[in-house]
Amino acid sequence: MFVSADALQREKTHIADFAPEVAWVTRAGNTEMAEAIAIRPTSETVMYPSYAKWVQSHRDLPIKLNQWCNVVRWEFKHPTPFLRTREFLWQEGHTAYQTRAEAVDEVFQILDLYAKIYTDLMAIPVIKGRKSEKEKFAGADFTTTVEAYVAINGRGIQGATSHHLGQNFSKMFDISFEDPENPGTKVFAHQNSWGLSTRSIGALIMIHGDDNGLVLPPHVAAIQMIVIPVGITAQTSDTERKKLIGKAQEITNALISGGIRAEADLRENVSPGWKFNSWELKGVPVRVELGPKELADNEILAVVRFSGKRQTISINDGLVDKAKELLEEIHLDMYKKQEQIRDEHLKLCLDWSTFLTYLDDKNLMLSPFCGQPECEEQIKDASKREESIEAGIQAAMGAKTLCIPLEQPKQELPQACINVNCQNKAQFFALFGRSY
Ligand code: AMP
Repeated sequence: MFVSADALQREKTHIADFAPEVAWVTRAGNTEMAEAIAIRPTSETVMYPSYAKWVQSHRDLPIKLNQWCNVVRWEFKHPTPFLRTREFLWQEGHTAYQTRAEAVDEVFQILDLYAKIYTDLMAIPVIKGRKSEKEKFAGADFTTTVEAYVAINGRGIQGATSHHLGQNFSKMFDISFEDPENPGTKVFAHQNSWGLSTRSIGALIMIHGDDNGLVLPPHVAAIQMIVIPVGITAQTSDTERKKLIGKAQEITNALISGGIRAEADLRENVSPGWKFNSWELKGVPVRVELGPKELADNEILAVVRFSGKRQTISINDGLVDKAKELLEEIHLDMYKKQEQIRDEHLKLCLDWSTFLTYLDDKNLMLSPFCGQPECEEQIKDASKREESIEAGIQAAMGAKTLCIPLEQPKQELPQACINVNCQNKAQFFALFGRSY
């Protein structure tokens, strides 16, 4: 958790960027400390002094470590639960390789895994890309990222990042070994780091949630199906009531045995309607209703949280398989819905005035860009709306590059950069937008 000033400051670009956000411990009890100790904003500088000791020969490589921990970044931007917090839980991977090629390969393998976390688990489409020079991780040779789109306010959100650190840290921390091909020659390790934080939960809430609460995609829902007995009234006989409750439990057990995360809500002190709302708020993907009518017909009624779609499923004829199919269908439909929304807001844009209109209409723009940090700064400045910023409307912040998509538009790249005041030649299409 703690890092000495000496270690933290060893890689100059790294500390230059992180410095404004580093929290320092200056006092222990009532005693002022002789030297302040930083709380890690990320763990490169905590881990790499050990890497230097562990790497004595090329046989010690690769080193591949992953840790889950909390880090602290004293962010100045408006903190938002999950999305931007000053303390956050994340997973961070740190590797060291003998060759650059191995390390670079891994950067993209990790990026693919991150993309899958979003697409295959959270039903959120992402765009894979490289960060611009301005936006890359401090101390990295290059940063790759997966970027998602939040329709409610038209902003992009960085989903996770995978960095190639080159030899920048290994040179500073002396993570080195003797070149096996040229004895006597010292070589520095090639390194990567990557991270995914609790921000992903925020993205999921923002992207899928609706006015009735959370909407969880089935693959990450802790409870995928909630079984609720319905239609029990004062007139219902005790035998009938017990039969219904017994069947609800039996169905739940069958679903659980089939590998579905199911639960029965058999509380008798709250009404079915109250339960419906409560589970809706919690985002459970499917509500299973079982009433006297269903019991008589030997079926259940499945109600899908995200679409409201209702369908009956026979209890005795492949219930578990049908339920699994339904969960898969929900995942796919949720993904397709978000992909369609995202695609409708993804605009190829070649001129500045359209760029501004698109931006205010909650779009992300694919525009020609020279890649220069000063130019990106100008674009950000020129696209923010001062009057609204004073009014405290965050969405009026300027546009920045979310990434340089790995998959570039088919369209031929124009010569001119999107920034009218820029004389540089466009190098690629970059994805621009307001972001978190
Ligand atoms: P970085 O080390 O800056 O590349 O960030 C690694 C991951 O942590 C990325 O997925 C970021 O989106 C996420 N992240 C960065 N800052 C915060 C924050 N203040 N709160 C939550 N997640 C964050």
